[in-house]
Amino acid sequence: MQLSQKIRIYPTKEQLKVLWDLSEKCRLIYNFALSDRIDNWKEQNEVSEEDRKYITYTTQQNELPEIKHKYPEYKWVYSKVLQMTLRNLDASYKSFFALWKSGDKNARPPRFKGKQYFTTLCYNQSGFDIENDIISFSHKHPSKTEISFDISHYPLKEETKKIKQVEIFTKKGKWFVSITYEFQEPKYIDNGKYQAIDLGVSNIISAVNLDGKFIQIKSRRVDLYWKNKLQEVQSKRDHCKKYSRRWKKYHLKFCRMKSKCANQLKDFQHKISKQIVENTKANTIIVGDLNVKSMAKKKKTTKSPRKNKANKTLNHSIQNTGSLGRFVQFLTYKARKIGKRVIRIDESYTTQTCAKCGVRVKRELSERDITCDCGHQMDRDLNSAVNIMIKFLMSDNLSHQPSLKEESFLRKWNGFSTTHSPKICSPAKA
Ligand SMILES: [Zn+2]
Repeated sequence: MQLSQKIRIYPTKEQLKVLWDLSEKCRLIYNFALSDRIDNWKEQNEVSEEDRKYITYTTQQNELPEIKHKYPEYKWVYSKVLQMTLRNLDASYKSFFALWKSGDKNARPPRFKGKQYFTTLCYNQSGFDIENDIISFSHKHPSKTEISFDISHYPLKEETKKIKQVEIFTKKGKWFVSITYEFQEPKYIDNGKYQAIDLGVSNIISAVNLDGKFIQIKSRRVDLYWKNKLQEVQSKRDHCKKYSRRWKKYHLKFCRMKSKCANQLKDFQHKISKQIVENTKANTIIVGDLNVKSMAKKKKTTKSPRKNKANKTLNHSIQNTGSLGRFVQFLTYKARKIGKRVIRIDESYTTQTCAKCGVRVKRELSERDITCDCGHQMDRDLNSAVNIMIKFLMSDNLSHQPSLKEESFLRKWNGFSTTHSPKICSPAKA
């Protein structure tokens, strides 16, 4: 599997000048190539469908030597980097075409990059070198400034030395290199132990294993901590004349606080996902596939105004912590790194269904506990976790004959198992 590592770098003034010059060449190449493609696309639309010939990556790459001959300053850039710029354009164009062909008329071709835009310098396979925690890049800028950075503050482990690609980019005034490397992951073996996890806003993790052992981890709601502070600065800012000195001061403060909040959330997710993946004895982790977007959208249709308000705040918090999708990604790659697997399963009805008897009742998302007529009472999220486990055990994901443990789990929790509980109205998908 390929993994990426982002490392902050601190370019000097001279290096920045070179980086921007190199980026500018790439930006122009990108824009030229894009404009060629757009013209070509318009022309081809006039031609009958069989005779259409679109510009490809290879055509554009083959034009590079001629461009370099005519305008020698393009030789400043390491040739593979220019090629990668065209490759990136090609990739965005392909995805645009795919969308367009699938009938998405809102799809737009990639856009021209403006003057302030730093085009990511992408060194693929060659043109870079790492030795003694110094990463250096090839170029032929006339200034002869060395483009090399000390990355000893983030020493690379032995496993990260099979480097495929290095990118130099900037974000919010900070500079980074992103190192993509090949990682040999241990082979995954199904050890018969499973951990089912329900992810949520207030409890980031509610989990159950086959032994019926529950774990629950509360979310650290950094967004709530920052909310009022952010609002305060924002309102101060909005009382100033836009772009005035005071406005800029508050705006900067606002941006800094926002990014701090985002970083804290990310950090928390990294820690929790690592903890969960490493501490569980299960080699297989099952998560309910949450479609965060549709979850937030669906709730808008509720009619009662009071409920609507409750749901509005809920929508809000789902979107704010909308990084749950990212959390699943963290879980997934951290699991793969140590030979475990994350399996996503459709989580519809896992909250509504009683894990004990399988009766389905519509519940408001604000209800924290589930109380069923059968006498079953449980935390909502833990109930979902049980149902996710049941769904997994009943699904095709499980190829082997159920083990004793699995059978006893299913005997204890009859929720989704249609064989055990004919009461279920219809488990069909919505
Ligand atoms: Zn029940």
